[in-house]
Amino acid sequence: MISVIVVAGGSGKRMLSEIPKQFLELNGLPIIMHTLNKLNKSISTEKEFILVLPENQTDYWEGLCIQHQFNIPHTIAFGGNERFDSVKNGLEKISPNSKIVAIHDAVRPLIAHSVIQSLLSSVEHYPAVIPVIPVFESIRKITGENSSEIVNRNEYVLVQTPQVFQTEIIKKAYKQPYSPEFTDDASVAEHAGYSIKTIEGNRENIKLTTPFDLQLAECLMQNQL
Ligand code: C5P
Repeated sequence: MISVIVVAGGSGKRMLSEIPKQFLELNGLPIIMHTLNKLNKSISTEKEFILVLPENQTDYWEGLCIQHQFNIPHTIAFGGNERFDSVKNGLEKISPNSKIVAIHDAVRPLIAHSVIQSLLSSVEHYPAVIPVIPVFESIRKITGENSSEIVNRNEYVLVQTPQVFQTEIIKKAYKQPYSPEFTDDASVAEHAGYSIKTIEGNRENIKLTTPFDLQLAECLMQNQL
């Protein structure tokens, strides 16, 4: 059984919108439904969905499900203060038969089918697998108010989701106390002593964070149709 935890527990202040970003519409459908539809189509083996939402948004979500006749079965978990807390709450809801856990940001609807397939086949051999993409821009490290220095971009990659884990290890890793360096699930697993296998992600799989990202996603999605 593959457990898919989709985290949408954040408040999304950077989107400058009253509606939390995961509920904003892209081509007529809330972002979160695009994301769940894509994961549902791409994972053909037995699976369960756990959707993590802020407690005060669950009624709104249920209304959207009726409005859009959305019927992929899912369990709701409540979001917490940090992404770490939200994932932890999601992990508490997974089934005892779970062998693999995929954790995905709700605001990344453009994950590619091929990347999901690579992640799921790699996790048979590695306890923790994540998608990454190369950095094409030059990168500088800010060293002071008026100074910076170039760094070697070949030593860096950008990290995406879904991040996929053998269930046993990610449950163990999330027993650690929260630390501010935990910006994703791989950082939690790494801190618990597990090494992280990287595979190539897809560039379109952006995290929709600002109004600009929404425009970009709309264009990219139209090209996929
Ligand atoms: O805040 P950030 O952009 O890192 O959010 C990435 C994902 O984590 C989003 O899908 C967001 O809803 C989720 N998140 C969460 N609980 C939080 C903060 C973020 O589920 N407390």
